[in-house]
Amino acid sequence: MSDLTECVVTPRVATDGFDPVGVGVHRASTIVFADAAAYASRGDRGDKGYSYGLYGTPTTRTLEEKLSRLEQASRTFLVPSGQAANALAVMALVGAGQHIVLADTVYPPMREFALSDLARMGVSVDFFNPTDLDDLRQKMRSETRIVWCESPGSTTMEVMDIPAAAEIAHQVGALLGVDNTWATPLNLKPLALGADLVTEALTKYIAGHSDVLLGSISVRDPELAGPIKGAIGRMGIGASPDDASLVLRGLETLGVRLRHSEAVARRFCERLVGHPMIDQVLFPALPGAPGYALFQRDFLGASGVFTLTFSEEVAPHVWPALDSLGLFAIGASWGGTRSLVAPMPVRGSRSVTQWTSPDITLRVSIGLEEETELWEDLRRFLAALEQYSSASSAAQ
Ligand SMILES: *Cc1c(COP(=O)(O)O)cnc(C)c1O
Repeated sequence: MSDLTECVVTPRVATDGFDPVGVGVHRASTIVFADAAAYASRGDRGDKGYSYGLYGTPTTRTLEEKLSRLEQASRTFLVPSGQAANALAVMALVGAGQHIVLADTVYPPMREFALSDLARMGVSVDFFNPTDLDDLRQKMRSETRIVWCESPGSTTMEVMDIPAAAEIAHQVGALLGVDNTWATPLNLKPLALGADLVTEALTKYIAGHSDVLLGSISVRDPELAGPIKGAIGRMGIGASPDDASLVLRGLETLGVRLRHSEAVARRFCERLVGHPMIDQVLFPALPGAPGYALFQRDFLGASGVFTLTFSEEVAPHVWPALDSLGLFAIGASWGGTRSLVAPMPVRGSRSVTQWTSPDITLRVSIGLEEETELWEDLRRFLAALEQYSSASSAAQ
């Protein structure tokens, strides 16, 4: 072969005996075939075969397989983000004339997706109060196809009775889908509790380092795999092997990261309850918190994300007091090594439940920094809140 051809045609070296602990990054669009007949019959390679990079590589399939085991799922599909997982799981399974019911506390972009895109495609959309299953029962119709929820709810942390919701959904032949991002499959197994679909924003705890976006859709019934795989393929959505590789690496330390963040979050929440600057500490793992009984029954543990609410007097000072934080970073998303806070409004993302507290909450994600230094930082924030609050009441 000439040098020009040598540059292009890659020799295959032996891979036998090369057994690394990690998974290689297999990048490919094209997959080549040994001969014409193998190419012609590539459609017969079945679900586990390889035909084109968009439909899976050993790297992406390894992550899918790992997630299927953790979720107790028959199949898992990777998509480019957690929100893509939510939207595609639903879009693959509902159509014009059908109906979807969503918990009032779902991840806000999911609410927007239902109200804009699903509604435009002729799907009718309702919301239900996740802590009132009679409300869910009343909203079910014969054409209801999916009940979509998140437990605990985004930001406000309402815990839902998943087995009971699954039963209500199944009574009319609908499916229950659960966005399991807060708990991760280490702390909650929605499919084992009766749900049909579970999604994860792998972006958060599972990847764990705030440097990648990826999502997963897992199904209990193998019959659901076909429609989801088909829709993802027809829309041309694939997951990058580089991103999958980062998530595979993060997943190896998920257990120890989660247990650490959970333990620190519990200790911080216990100290924050009753603090004069804090109205409520929303963390379902706290004895006595709303939803604690369901949490104890269904969850295997908590993550390190909780939310603080404030009284009318304190709320206006939250934004300026945030600048007193030196270690906690201010930013969206969570579940990484770095501890984060994010001021979150709630009222605009609720339609059937009332948010009566001031419309600013503080979502806190505990990372892996040294616990005492982190607590000192939070104390600086609380002291700043106190200072601003007493200055403003003195001025009145
Ligand atoms: C962050 C998040 C998502 C979206 O994940 P992305 O990967 O950022 O799209 C979905 N659901 C919940 C509950 C989340 O917190």
